[in-house]
Amino acid sequence: MASISLRNVVKKYGKGKNELQVIHGVNAEIDDHEFIVIVGPSGCGKSTLLRMVAGLEEISGGEIAIGNRVVNDLEPAERDIAMVFQNYALYPHMSVFENMAYGLKIKKTPLDEIKARVDKAAKILELGHLLERKPRQLSGGQRQRVAMGRAIVRQPQVFLFDEPLSNLDAKLRAQTRLEIQKLHRELGITSLFVTHDQVEAMTLAQRVIVMNAGVMEQFGTPEEVYARPASTFVASFIGSPPMNLLKTVPGSREGAILGIRPEHLNIGSTGTWEAVVETTELLGAEKLIYVRVGGEQLIVRSDESVAVPQPGSTLYLTPRADRVHWFDAASGKRI
Ligand code: ADP
Ligand code: MG
Repeated sequence: MASISLRNVVKKYGKGKNELQVIHGVNAEIDDHEFIVIVGPSGCGKSTLLRMVAGLEEISGGEIAIGNRVVNDLEPAERDIAMVFQNYALYPHMSVFENMAYGLKIKKTPLDEIKARVDKAAKILELGHLLERKPRQLSGGQRQRVAMGRAIVRQPQVFLFDEPLSNLDAKLRAQTRLEIQKLHRELGITSLFVTHDQVEAMTLAQRVIVMNAGVMEQFGTPEEVYARPASTFVASFIGSPPMNLLKTVPGSREGAILGIRPEHLNIGSTGTWEAVVETTELLGAEKLIYVRVGGEQLIVRSDESVAVPQPGSTLYLTPRADRVHWFDAASGKRI
C-alpha cells in the first residue's frame, strides 16, 4: 500500500494551435490507506487525472509519485495499481472464477495461490456461490462485484475507480456504495474514486477533490467542503439543492456574493428578508419552498413542522448568522 503525490500535474492534448490544456497544475498529497473521491461535472478532467495516475495517459508537466517512486515514465503494469471502470468488460466466455483468476494466470502465479486469492476476494464480495457462472448469468451489480474482485486479487498498492457505479440503478448503487466502504475498511488499500455524483462523493470519501474545468477547486473532508466551500463553484456543486448565492438581498455587500444553504434559513413571523412564495415541493420528510426576495430566487428547506405555504403568500426569512458565507463576486473565491 502507498501514498500518492500529485505535484503540479498538467495535461495538454494536441499540438501547436490545436493544443488544449485540460488539467491545470493539480497538487495533492494523498496518504497511505486514504479513500479519495475526485468529483466534478462531466468534462472537467476527472478521468484524465485518473488515467495519468494509472499510466494510461502521459503527463505533460509535473510529477506523480506512488509511494516513494516517481512513476511518470513507468508503464501501467509497473505501477502496481488496479483499475475498475464503469464498463466492467468481463470476458463473456469465462466463468466468474476464470475472470477473476485471469490476470494472475498470465503472470504465471502458482495455481494454489490463485485459488486462495480468488476465494478470499469472493468471500469479501459474497461471490462464493457464483464462481462457476458466466457473466451473462449475473445481474449488473454482481458483474460489477466481479470486476472489483478481479482488481482485488491483484493485491495492488492503489485502487483506481472510474465511475464504477454509473451503470447501476439507484438501489444497487446505494448498496454497492456500502460494499465499497466495507471493502476499504477490510483491505485499507489507497483508493482514488472518480464520480460526477456529489452524493456518492460525500458518502464514500475520506477526502474529496472537487474539480472544475481542469482546476482543483478544493481538497478537503466532506465536512469541510460542505461547511466551508472554497468557491461559489464548490458551494453550488456540493449539496442538493445547492447553496443560495445572492447579490442584491438586504444585507448584501458591493462586490461580494452572499451564500446561504436552503437549510440555514429560518422561517418566522418577522425576518430579515420578505419573500414571496412561488412553488413548493414536498419530499416526504422535508419540503423545498421556492421563493423570491426582490429580484432573486431562493430555495428554503424546511421540515414537517412548517405548514405548506400558498403560492403568492409572504414568508419572512432570517439567515442563520453563523452559516452565512461570503465570496468575491469577481473571482468567486471565498472571502
Ligand atoms: P471527465 O472524466 O471529467 O468527464 P475527461 O477527463 O474525460 O473528463 O476529459 C477532460 C477534457 O479533456 C474534456 O474537455 C475532453 O473533451 C478532453 N479530452 C479527453 N480526452 C481527450 C483526447 N484524447 N484528446 C483531446 N481531448 C480530450
Ligand atoms: Mg470521465
